[in-house]
Amino acid sequence: MEIEKLKAENPVVKELAACRELYWENPDRLPDPAAGDDGIYVDIDEAEARLIRFAPFIRRVFPEVEDGIIESPLTEIPDMQDALAMETGGVLQPSEIKGRLFLKRDSDLPISGSVKARGGIYEVLKFAEETAIKNGMLTPEDDYGRLADPEFRELFSGYSVAVGSTGNLGLSIGIMSAVIGFQVTVHMSADARQWKKDLLREKGVTVREYPDDYEAAVAQGRKEAEADPKCHFVDDENSMDLFAGYSVAGKRLKKQLDELGITIDKEHRLYVYIPCGVGGAPGGVTYGIREYFGENAYCFFAEPTHAPCMTLGLATGLGSGISVKDIGIDGKTEADGLAVGRASALVAKAMKSRLSGCFTADDSRLYPLLAMLQDTEGIFIEPSACAGFPGPGVICGGGAGTVFASGAVPLPDEKSIQIIWATGGSMVPEEEKQSYYKKGCEALGAAGGEQE
Ligand SMILES: *Cc1c(COP(=O)(O)O)cnc(C)c1O
Repeated sequence: MEIEKLKAENPVVKELAACRELYWENPDRLPDPAAGDDGIYVDIDEAEARLIRFAPFIRRVFPEVEDGIIESPLTEIPDMQDALAMETGGVLQPSEIKGRLFLKRDSDLPISGSVKARGGIYEVLKFAEETAIKNGMLTPEDDYGRLADPEFRELFSGYSVAVGSTGNLGLSIGIMSAVIGFQVTVHMSADARQWKKDLLREKGVTVREYPDDYEAAVAQGRKEAEADPKCHFVDDENSMDLFAGYSVAGKRLKKQLDELGITIDKEHRLYVYIPCGVGGAPGGVTYGIREYFGENAYCFFAEPTHAPCMTLGLATGLGSGISVKDIGIDGKTEADGLAVGRASALVAKAMKSRLSGCFTADDSRLYPLLAMLQDTEGIFIEPSACAGFPGPGVICGGGAGTVFASGAVPLPDEKSIQIIWATGGSMVPEEEKQSYYKKGCEALGAAGGEQE
């Protein structure tokens, strides 16, 4: 890959290579999400029906999930909305971040405390269902609560699950697989936080650590799994099952907005900002949102300036054919869940016609945003999950970086609904929470001092 040539040809690449913040609008987005004719299709109703079949099982093994449905609250965050304008350093006034701002709190999803509880758990459940059916022990009409009985654990113990992860996918797959009774191995990249590895080991999960990045951990997991016909490899880079699990979020969001009496239409547009690593979670969520809200939903991915793999893949049109390393970036970031150098091929393809744009955020913004959310709304989320917060400011000109606009994104107004997707946080141990918060407060204090 000729770096210099790419930089010269494409100014987006030049900004990305310099790790400068930017906002890029996708010129290929289509009003009709299906018109892209990319061959990517998920039957969201079927995926949701599977999750409903499993509700009695979830209730039995996780009694705290009362209805057996893994879903998160949607919370309006007006005080954070005002604070976000301040975060632009005076570029925007509070009144300039328009409409109603909500937080989609996947940080509080039951069982694994991150957005990965959608896709990851869905894929493990589907594998369990297929295994039980194949062995003649289950039909889709049965009460799936039975799957927690000893004879099923016995069956599942003969099978294994493997996954490569920066942390949270490993938590979801590991916790759910262990509860079902599968043998499970999580291949963790160097970026994964220690507490995530410790927690998994406590639950009987085999955790392998790699000195290399996420791509290497996934490759090793894939290789080992291929050698074993009874092992199911959860392929974060290509899995349609993960993607389907995430996409159910679109249908659930529609229901939540309906319950609030909010209708999305041409006049009441929806803007959604989601942190992106390899792309599976934000890609699946975006797919679902575009299915349910069509042309009136504008979705954006947020990436760290040091790991902007999806922005790079989409803006060059190379998808997974280019890594941030190819343009001289290290891929290292405090946003551990987003420390991915190469985008998912599947998601890059699916986003071409569906995504409105991407923006990048410098790591220095994450902890202050974390502290601001805690102070204004009393909600804790992890550093990776903070990457989406600059979104509402960025798209209306309050970003620090260069703007590559196609003109296809109408600005939010008073009637708009904006949603920041909080992708993780509730499983973070208390001491870590305190130390992240302190870090944020210190940074905010230092910034305030400078301005005076
Ligand atoms: C995994 C993760 C993401 C991004 O999901 P991808 O599927 O890797 O794009 C965002 N935030 C958090 C907290 C995550 O764990």
